[in-house]
Amino acid sequence: EGVTVAELAEILEVSANDIIKRLFLLGTPLTMTQTMSNDLVELVADDLGRQVRIVTAEEENSFSFYDAPEDLKSRPPVVTVMGHVDHGKTSLLDAIRHTNVWSGEAGGITQHIGASEVQINGRQITFVDTPGHEAFTAMRARGAKITDVVVLVVAADDGVMPQTIEAINHSKAAGVPIIVAVNKCDKPEANPDKVRQMLTEYGIIPEEWGGQNMFVNVSAKKGQGIDDLLETILLQADVLELKANPDTFASGNIIEAKLDRGRGPVATLLVTRGTLHVGDTIVAGQSYGSVRAMLDQHGNHKDEARPSDAVEILGLNSVPAAGDEFRVFEDARDARDLAEQRALKARIEEQNKVKHVTLETLFDEMSQNELKELNLVVKADAQGTIEALADSIGKMDQSEVRINIIHSAVGAISETDVTLAMASNAIIIGFGVRPQPKARDAAERENVQIKTYSIIYKAIEDIDAARIGMLKPTE
Ligand code: GDP
Repeated sequence: EGVTVAELAEILEVSANDIIKRLFLLGTPLTMTQTMSNDLVELVADDLGRQVRIVTAEEENSFSFYDAPEDLKSRPPVVTVMGHVDHGKTSLLDAIRHTNVWSGEAGGITQHIGASEVQINGRQITFVDTPGHEAFTAMRARGAKITDVVVLVVAADDGVMPQTIEAINHSKAAGVPIIVAVNKCDKPEANPDKVRQMLTEYGIIPEEWGGQNMFVNVSAKKGQGIDDLLETILLQADVLELKANPDTFASGNIIEAKLDRGRGPVATLLVTRGTLHVGDTIVAGQSYGSVRAMLDQHGNHKDEARPSDAVEILGLNSVPAAGDEFRVFEDARDARDLAEQRALKARIEEQNKVKHVTLETLFDEMSQNELKELNLVVKADAQGTIEALADSIGKMDQSEVRINIIHSAVGAISETDVTLAMASNAIIIGFGVRPQPKARDAAERENVQIKTYSIIYKAIEDIDAARIGMLKPTE
């Protein structure tokens, strides 16, 4: 929050001493590393004959723009397919696109742009191919909410597997409804009912059994049940009443981006609000530029992209990051200013990395930032240990802070666990397991706390102490 004297000097390209002197004369002596109020920043800049515009968190966070209810129009659902490896995610997406090619799309050859739009019963569904729940949560960690519905693929001959459970927990943490596609139903050994039964243990219960989740039996290989699945997605979308204002400046998120040798920076973006036109000036993360061309997944040129449309665009000055927000600017100079300001801020932030919650700081966070929940990711060497811990936590006094185990599994602490913890401001607890080297690096980089224990009561003791602010830092 706020800018320090040194940072302002860098932004205005004047010496810090000059600013300190002016501050002194204004009656507010400050040192290099002290933060200035917005008023003070404006005053000093004014004093220097310069104009600064302070970009508020609101403006930075361009999605808090208000739309009047009457401006909101229904928009297509945006779907992500997740599931255990080899259960048929790729085959299912291919089958979905294939069905669609037959229904008369021009060209027929699909380019990989990271997303695709399909049509069913005259309505659109947009599929975002995030490669797995890691990418899904990594995007969420960056503040991007780009999925309305998750299609969870579970192979009927294999059932619920570790990544199935991870996908469920990642979807739940994001608050996104899950439709289950029970795949490989063509196989003689397929047992779709067993999949339904197994999933109830994870709170995924079929509607026909009184639960909240829609299930569809499919065979990606044979192309069976695909239309049924698409229609089910539309049903779910109707329940969600997805809406956006199409008649305003476009904003949304980058889905993927790369540097193309011939075409320069190429980005696929998802419009979540407004309508994007060729020629619009946009800022995406630290990149900016005017949209030179817009293409769909068949390589066809488009003039505009509306809410829930995914298009590939050319014209940015650099390659943005997946998950970055983008938004249209009326004034090209404002766009450049903001992109450059962000690049500068990113450099500064890199130096003073955000700290996530730790057990040692939990109590302070509770009182200062009104943190009311402690999220835990639990990894252990045995299922029994997880259950014992969950049981003990359940018995704790949770009147001050609610303790949620957002994900638990048997196995080493992985990079995915760290990403999930980062996105959900969670602490990772390991029992008789250690972080994988990549996970340790990621945790260090992202300031996610990993605590390892060999005895349950010790962990309970720590959590309990943290809850009332009695835990002393050990390192
Ligand atoms: P992913 O790792 O989840 O993307 O899985 P893939 O789509 O690559 O599929 C893994 C394997 O399962 C491949 O050999 C597919 O041919 C096979 N497969 C996918 N869907 C089906 C299906 O509906 N029926 C059968 N019999 N095999 C399938």
